[in-house]
Amino acid sequence: MSVHQSKTPTPAQDQAFVEAFRTAGLKATHQRLTIYRELASRDDHPSAEAVFVGVRAKLPTVALDTVYRTLKTFEDMNLAKRLDIFDDQARFDANMEPHHHCVCNRCDKIVDFHWDQFDLLTLPGSAEEWGTVMDRSVVFRGICRDCLLRSRGK
Ligand SMILES: [Zn+2]
Ligand SMILES: [Zn+2]
Repeated sequence: MSVHQSKTPTPAQDQAFVEAFRTAGLKATHQRLTIYRELASRDDHPSAEAVFVGVRAKLPTVALDTVYRTLKTFEDMNLAKRLDIFDDQARFDANMEPHHHCVCNRCDKIVDFHWDQFDLLTLPGSAEEWGTVMDRSVVFRGICRDCLLRSRGK
């Protein structure tokens, strides 16, 4: 079980959520708001199952399937991103600011990093010719500092 740091969603995030739902013509129900707040309060890029475990503490009757469908809705509404970093398990990210990820091969932790120069790089001509690029992101894979220290301590 990975320990995650919880932070309360900012009022701006809550506001963005309510507004995005209004724009999409969907109700900002208590259930959706609870699921979104759970996702937005975490920076560990949880799986649907992990979101479900967190949400169940506040909504005991919620079903895993509902969490799956709600996360899919968030994705369709650009409130969250699905990260296909692992073959066997989708992870979710409510941080819609441009950012990239470092992934540890040992503990599977996904950490955000920013790379402004990359975000501003001119695309190669071949990419421009291919079509419209909507999103660009980089995944670095390696061993995180915690895991390095742990293996050194042995
Ligand atoms: Zn690690
Ligand atoms: Zn992220």
